[in-house]
Amino acid sequence: MKVTVRQMSDQEARILIEDAEPTFMNSLRRTLTANVPKMAIEEVEFHLGPIRGEDGKEYESVTPLFDEIIAHRLSLIPIPTDLEVFEPRATCSTCGGEGCPHCTIMFSLNKRGPGTAFSRDLLPVGDTKLAPRDPDIPIVKLGDGQAMLIYATAILGTGEDHAKWQAAQGAAYKFYPILEFDPKDKTLTEEVASVCPVNILEANGEFRVTDIEKCTLCRLCEEASDGQIKVSGDPTRFLFRFETDGALTAEQALNAALDILRHKFEELAAGIEGLT
Ligand SMILES: [Zn+2]
Repeated sequence: MKVTVRQMSDQEARILIEDAEPTFMNSLRRTLTANVPKMAIEEVEFHLGPIRGEDGKEYESVTPLFDEIIAHRLSLIPIPTDLEVFEPRATCSTCGGEGCPHCTIMFSLNKRGPGTAFSRDLLPVGDTKLAPRDPDIPIVKLGDGQAMLIYATAILGTGEDHAKWQAAQGAAYKFYPILEFDPKDKTLTEEVASVCPVNILEANGEFRVTDIEKCTLCRLCEEASDGQIKVSGDPTRFLFRFETDGALTAEQALNAALDILRHKFEELAAGIEGLT
């Protein structure tokens, strides 16, 4: 198998994988989406009753949204996750499930209106490195006299349980595109080239493809050329891409997915040995 990393930025990966099979690609895609864990807010406690500001003014602990909607919004805010540190709370080897710094992050949010509560207002209790990476996610707009005092708890989970714990988004692969045609074919005109929605065909003199990897295998050119262009996908070469929401970097998510796959296959191998 040959792997070429085309892009590995903080939150986005694009990789060319050759000499592989669709089943392998699908395992990797599914593991990234469903099994790589990350931290997300699971419990939210809302303060009820009046809240007194430092100025002595009394605020109502109400917001224009239902508490459930605010809790849901909080759960979708990406929380930085160090997979070397955190483990699932239910099986935490330090606290046995009661909640400790190895399995739980506590946050507080104390905001008074008028104004908008943002993810930057969600303050971690303790280590400031655990604050949401994106400070500008709006949560709720508070009116005059409205206030919100919240305690929230984030724990580790996987996309299999809830989308808020999904570490990778938009994980997808496509077969490496193959376009077969005769470059000297006079029926391949500018008109045929113009049907391409990603503009990778040119008919100046010889017919040619400018960037084959952009091809979406839509076959519009095959139709427009009456079959003079043949479009297919190589089932052994794949363009694979995914993004993360910032809780993990793309590289961390990929490494975690490969670790999980390795562990699963080791378990399978051990199980098969046990049969004989
Ligand atoms: Zn713990």
